[in-house]
Amino acid sequence: MPNTRTELIDLQFLGYPLAIAAYLLDDGVEAALVEVGPTSTATTLLREVQARGVPLERVRHLIVTHIHLDHAGALGWLLQRLPNAVAYVHPVGAPHMVDPSRLIASASRLYGEMMERLWGEVVPIPQERLRIVRDGERIEVAGRVLLAVDTPGHARHHHAYLDEATGTLFAGDVAGVRMPGTTYVRPPTPPPELDVEAWQASLAKLRALPIQQLALTHFGLYGDVERHLNELEARLLNWAEFTRHLIEQGVPDGELIQRMRDYGNEEMRQQAADPSSYDLGAGYELIALGYARYWRKKLGLT
Ligand SMILES: [Zn+2]
Repeated sequence: MPNTRTELIDLQFLGYPLAIAAYLLDDGVEAALVEVGPTSTATTLLREVQARGVPLERVRHLIVTHIHLDHAGALGWLLQRLPNAVAYVHPVGAPHMVDPSRLIASASRLYGEMMERLWGEVVPIPQERLRIVRDGERIEVAGRVLLAVDTPGHARHHHAYLDEATGTLFAGDVAGVRMPGTTYVRPPTPPPELDVEAWQASLAKLRALPIQQLALTHFGLYGDVERHLNELEARLLNWAEFTRHLIEQGVPDGELIQRMRDYGNEEMRQQAADPSSYDLGAGYELIALGYARYWRKKLGLT
């Protein structure tokens, strides 16, 4: 096996550690990034890549698990500064990176005036620097092979990538949010594409793979794969039941968010986890609104 390394880069989102990670893969000849974060942290990313002895010309592959701005927002900006790089995107997400107007409009509905501060500019990707990756495809980057696994649920445009030689799964958001030093796994369930059944099917797909280690974007590396995925699935379903009752009762969104926060934070207290770091990766407002949209559609309440 060639001498290749994988390094976690903390993007220091909004100045906070442990919020958004990118993974640098490097074999000394070429380098890849799995996840690139938003444009607001892109200068940090490039600085950290160079600080690890990787010249920018060596970066040839920018791989994102899905096109949400905290994972892929910097792609266009980075391509302008990485002359030899191309971007790898899910087929459903790809058109929205070439023309990000709908992506920006959708994010603006969720984040409003915070958009610029949170994510920075979203630069369109030139078509000729885009590679569309399909389910089951293997891509060769930085001395290794990554298997793309279509994993909808959190979003329709979601891939996880398995490094088959090491068993490391770059999981994006399909394996949830977890902080170093804790066991608690939070399901990030934002609107508008949360699909609980599709997410369960994606988890079943992951369980069939030889995964040794989960590399989460929010945040870090975890070896207790089976326990982690079981906890995530149980909570995804438990929260679905919890929100379903409230939505059937017609509880307004503001109250739903507060009830979700109280419920989740009580769970976290029991597992001695600190909510604040999780809130940066998946806040309760988007979690509650994601379930609300999912249920109103499913129950015909729209
Ligand atoms: Zn995310």
